Amino acid sequence: MNLPVKCTYCSEMIVQGEKSQETNDGALLFHYECFIRMLAGSVGHLNKKCSCFGGTQEDPPDMTKRQAAKAASDLYHQIFEGDFYESYLDSLGIHRQVFNFN
Ligand SMILES: [Zn+2]
Ligand SMILES: [Zn+2]
Repeated sequence: MNLPVKCTYCSEMIVQGEKSQETNDGALLFHYECFIRMLAGSVGHLNKKCSCFGGTQEDPPDMTKRQAAKAASDLYHQIFEGDFYESYLDSLGIHRQVFNFN
C-alpha cells in the first residue's frame, strides 16, 4: 500500500511513520487508533456513559474524529493493558476490596 492514503474511518491522511491497520483483504486502511476506536467504541462507551449504559456521551464533542479516536485508543490501552485498571474500577464505583480474598 502506497502512503499517504485516506483513513477509512476519520478521512484524514495516513502518512509515513503512522501506525496503520488494514482489513484482512487489504482493501481498507485505517490509522491504528481509528481501528481501535471502531473495535472498542467511543470514549463515552469506554467510560460507560454512552447510550448503551443510559447516558449520552460518545466521542468528545470538541475533538475531531481522529483526535477522538486517539483519545479512545489511549483510554482503551489504559483500561485493558495499563496500571489504570483499578482506577477504572473505582470510576465505575466497583470497590476494589471486592477482589481481595484475604
Ligand atoms: Zn483515521
Ligand atoms: Zn456504547
